Amino acid sequence: MKLFEYEARNIFNQYGIPVPKFSVVSSPEEAYKAAEEIGGRVVVKAQVLVAGRGKAGGVKLAENPEEAYRYAKQMLGSEIKGEKVRKVVISKAVDIARELYLSIIIDRSIGAPVILASPEGGVDIEELARTKPERILKIVVDPILGVRDYHARRAASFLELSEPALKKAQEIVVNLYRVFENYNCELAEINPLALTPDNSLEAVDAKIILDDNALFKYPEFSSEFVRDLSYYEAEAKKMNFSYVELDGNIGILCNGAGLTMATMDSVYVLGGKPANFLDIGGGARADLVEKAVTLLLQHPKTEVIFINILGGITRCDEVANGIVAALKKTTTSKKIVVRLKGTNEEEGRRILEENNVFVLEEMDEAARKAVELGGGR
Ligand code: GDP
Ligand code: MN
Repeated sequence: MKLFEYEARNIFNQYGIPVPKFSVVSSPEEAYKAAEEIGGRVVVKAQVLVAGRGKAGGVKLAENPEEAYRYAKQMLGSEIKGEKVRKVVISKAVDIARELYLSIIIDRSIGAPVILASPEGGVDIEELARTKPERILKIVVDPILGVRDYHARRAASFLELSEPALKKAQEIVVNLYRVFENYNCELAEINPLALTPDNSLEAVDAKIILDDNALFKYPEFSSEFVRDLSYYEAEAKKMNFSYVELDGNIGILCNGAGLTMATMDSVYVLGGKPANFLDIGGGARADLVEKAVTLLLQHPKTEVIFINILGGITRCDEVANGIVAALKKTTTSKKIVVRLKGTNEEEGRRILEENNVFVLEEMDEAARKAVELGGGR
């Protein structure tokens, strides 16, 4: 689970990572007051969980409290990349001489945390990894031994700093690792870590992703009221579906995580783009299938729905009845491609065909059909 920037900043503060003075507000009036109290130039920052806020207009430099008021008013209640802004951070503006990058992340292929450091921060790290991979230093940390001084020295010296910033960067590496370890993070990132003209360092941005399996340890962050789920994510959660939103236009609905992933792969391979991952689990009855299909029918991104079911404990006739029930309740121009196999397959097929829903037998041909209808190659 991603934390908001202000939550990550609070943690950084407790762990001795330098963060510019800030306050979290939810009205323009509070923004004005906060800017006045902080004094001088401030940065108004939308608190949303999507990446690239700055480029999307969610980070603005304000010269005075009036400007902070105006930017806060603009941002609060607006949407940034589809996410509603409910809070903004008013932060003391930092004079930046150079933007650096520092993070600790779990590398799943190695099964260990790695420290990533770059003297060229501020930009998207994936982009930097593509264009200038030699500008990113990667240090694998043995999770049993934890971060050692030599790790910190190596990472800090890669940032092209001179004293006293060099020494401070070492401390930040050690403290960031303490955060990473104590909060069971998947990622703890500072981008940018700002080098100021007077040779000090400030964590201008703060990003933390907690491991969902450890969330029970941190009830202060796990509240659904704090976290903003999209309508679709919230509905899926209520029904205990595994649901993840993606960028494409082909809705995917399957039973079982393995089949769902294989179905997404088959769509990708043929040049299509899944709109989501939706696994309804095993043994779903018609009413649950109806809700799942309805969810995808409602989703504005979905143009085609590819339903791929392998009947075991899930019965194909139940699935068919669920699909038909969902279709009867809406008028839609969305195309549906169904592939059914397994328990009560014939009955399922009969129900669907009676209701003019086309059923395919093989996964390959069904994927091809879905991609074709979705406008892929
Ligand atoms: P992100 O777009 O969500 O990553 O938001 P950031 O907090 O990283 O801000 C984006 C960019 O805005 C940074 O890379 C900086 O270039 C700039 N920025 C943010 N805060 C400050 C600040 O206090 N002073 C200055 N000069 N620039 C800032
Ligand atoms: Mn950033």
